[in-house]
Amino acid sequence: MFCPKCGSLMFPEKGRLHCNSCGYERSFTGKDAVVTKVTKPGKEKPAETLVLDEITETLPRTRVECPKCGHYEAFWVMRQTRAADEPTTRIYRCVKCQHTWREY
Ligand SMILES: [Zn+2]
Ligand SMILES: [Zn+2]
Repeated sequence: MFCPKCGSLMFPEKGRLHCNSCGYERSFTGKDAVVTKVTKPGKEKPAETLVLDEITETLPRTRVECPKCGHYEAFWVMRQTRAADEPTTRIYRCVKCQHTWREY
């Protein structure tokens, strides 16, 4: 969807289309809303949960107590969080109740 005023690409904002160049705004029509779907960063599932959902079956297991159900076995994976200067996080997922938690 392009701005009718200045021709720049418009982005959905608060249910309306907003032009970042000139500030022009218009409301969605039903069709435009589907075509101009933009994923905003920071609103998705946490990355580590996503990773675990994909590869849980291949992860190693370790003897660690689940803080939720007390079961003493969990999958685990090492993962660097967001920025490179942050410490590596260990992420666990309980084999029994699927509860997922981190250890720094
Ligand atoms: Zn514009
Ligand atoms: Zn558990």
